[in-house]
Amino acid sequence: MKAPLLLGTWSFALKGIERALDPLRAGGDPLDACETICSTAERDETVDSVGYGGFPDASGAVTLDASVMRSPARNGSACCIRHHLDATRIARLVMEETPHMMLVGHPTDALAMAHGLPESDLLAPSARRAWLQWQRDPGSVKQAPDTSFRPHDGGPEAAGPLFTGGPSSTGDEGDPEDRWRHHDTIGALAMAPDGEMAGACSTSGLPFKRPGRVGDSPIIGHGLYVEPGVGMAVATGEGEFIMGVCGTFAAIELMRGGATPLEAARVVLERVDATFAPTKDHQVGIITCSADGTHACAALRDGFRAVVGDSDGVRAVEPDLILHPGT
Ligand code: ASP
Repeated sequence: MKAPLLLGTWSFALKGIERALDPLRAGGDPLDACETICSTAERDETVDSVGYGGFPDASGAVTLDASVMRSPARNGSACCIRHHLDATRIARLVMEETPHMMLVGHPTDALAMAHGLPESDLLAPSARRAWLQWQRDPGSVKQAPDTSFRPHDGGPEAAGPLFTGGPSSTGDEGDPEDRWRHHDTIGALAMAPDGEMAGACSTSGLPFKRPGRVGDSPIIGHGLYVEPGVGMAVATGEGEFIMGVCGTFAAIELMRGGATPLEAARVVLERVDATFAPTKDHQVGIITCSADGTHACAALRDGFRAVVGDSDGVRAVEPDLILHPGT
């Protein structure tokens, strides 16, 4: 058993994993650890794809989606949250305080208000500027799902102000698409020392998405799946592609059948590849972990990173597998 263990998508998971590791090591709840990781990104304006600072939809409204999961019987999700940044907490309220597993739209904000969560304006000035710029120059980014860009993780050292090198910037100021490359979901997986598992995901979805669009992140079995005794998985990238193959559920089913986490991740990416024929503008990343704590991180193309927190410390890691290396 390699626990305690924390895994997160993209380098911007680093700060949250650093905060969450010691409490988990001290006997904390793995879902609390996942919530800490996601809420750290939700509060970070420089992460322009999660919480405050997230890019809005085509109409200029920021809408957040999130999910949490302990097991097939214990999970919750919230979609199209408009007035509260604690998206992961709201998904957890759905799981813990309602008889349901998913709420959509205004009732998510009503649930948050009923539990005393503060209302906030989710549209950060930086994200509004990006939206105005996109409106002036719509050719620079097509509307989801036909996006003409893909996220690229420049590593934790690349963090900086928006438009001049965000967390996933390539840092190439001559690249007109560079400023749009920061859309990525925060996904977190946690395993406590006793092997208990949990996961969470939080996102503002694809930038400038069609209003009402919901991607994989808040849908159990698409962006996130946790099954005690079998394993857990979280995905990021082109949500529609992950949804089409029930990406994380497929990974768990493969591990149930005896696949290693790396084999499971590979098969999921091969299914995406065969189903959608992604172009070089598309990215899908997945992290898989079996019940014994063995884990893997894989992506369609270069530019994805995961963060690992365990007894060796916290570090950003390159994928174990890139399906199409060099692209
Ligand atoms: N998967 C997310 C979505 O489609 C976006 C991302 O991870 O970049 O909403």
